[in-house]
Amino acid sequence: MTQNTAKLVFWGVRGSTPTLERDTWRYGGNTACLEFLAPGGTRFILDCGTGLRMLGNRLRAPNNHWAESHEAIEAHVLVTHYHWDHIQGIPFFQPFFEIQNRFHFCSFESESLGRHSLRQVLEAQLAKPYFPVDVTTMKSMRTFREVTGGEEWEIEGTRIRTAWLNHPQGCLGYRLETTAGSVVYATDNEPGVPELDENLRKLAEGADVLVYDAQYSPEQLATIRKGWGHSSWLEGVKIAREAKVGHLVLFHHDPDSSSRTIDGFLSAARQEFPATWAAMEGMSINLSERGVNLKLPDARLGQRRRLRFSATVSGLCDDGRAFEEKATVRDLSVQGAYLYLHSRPRLQSELRVVIEATGDESHSSVLSLRGAVVYCESGREKNQNGVGVVFVEDSGLESPRD
Ligand SMILES: [Zn+2]
Ligand SMILES: [Zn+2]
Repeated sequence: MTQNTAKLVFWGVRGSTPTLERDTWRYGGNTACLEFLAPGGTRFILDCGTGLRMLGNRLRAPNNHWAESHEAIEAHVLVTHYHWDHIQGIPFFQPFFEIQNRFHFCSFESESLGRHSLRQVLEAQLAKPYFPVDVTTMKSMRTFREVTGGEEWEIEGTRIRTAWLNHPQGCLGYRLETTAGSVVYATDNEPGVPELDENLRKLAEGADVLVYDAQYSPEQLATIRKGWGHSSWLEGVKIAREAKVGHLVLFHHDPDSSSRTIDGFLSAARQEFPATWAAMEGMSINLSERGVNLKLPDARLGQRRRLRFSATVSGLCDDGRAFEEKATVRDLSVQGAYLYLHSRPRLQSELRVVIEATGDESHSSVLSLRGAVVYCESGREKNQNGVGVVFVEDSGLESPRD
């Protein structure tokens, strides 16, 4: 990256444990892992949850092609604490196992582990009987630095600052300050200890982006989840306002929060602090003199088809105004369907469904979908079978440009 731009990428946004449930897919199921690219190209990795595996794959295959010659990778790995959801990706990060790569780890000395805590964590994760190969197979060069709250230092032009957060067994918040902008990563924090609350506000003061723990609803935080070491969107909003941050990103989603639940937290937070976002796997934020620019991943899970339908679309504009207008749907992704069939397709077999679209005489639109049979029950309707199908993406589909 040659321009004065920094980039923050979200590889894992879930708290506590990874999720695979379909209703969590839209925001993502991997646990905490962020990548920060400073203006000079220095790479930081914030936490090593299961999202780290995806980052490793991307570093090895930047254009979805596995790199032939493995260029050396160097990164500064800042770990907030040692709970599973922040370290579990370590054994699955391929670049750790390659001799040409260099990693500079940074975390704190844990009371339970003593000196060289993070080094011990790494070795323990790859110890028998937890993992098939031991830590000697991790061929990359690794250095370890132990810091505490309130420290400040510089790495290749990026100022790093830490603050203690309120979390069982301790947790560090990090601020990364560059010429392109500043990011504060403060996850796993329960409000209510005045000194630590104050620390966090100082750490976040005037930051362009604050990534904050919003695991629970304000009601859960006040009742059944009090003392669990986490926070809510409402606390995030308060900190964002008081510390005058530019953008608030709700992070560390509860494994039991569906995408709809997170939608609800986000819209409630936006009522109070409009520049709020909900962290999503694959989301990236660019920081530059022009401000903060957020990009979401392609969230369409089903197979996409080019079409031309007219539709009435209503929603909210950037400035919060409601709109409704006639529009043309140019492509559509569909996840699945429930059909009645005389035939009885085999489970896990392939099914092709062709739907002829009507209602627009000037264009004949045919929706051709390939799917896998996931459900079949006999005799639902007039001796027909009820068949569930999940559509799968055809490879090599181009997206419409017009
Ligand atoms: Zn956590
Ligand atoms: Zn934790």
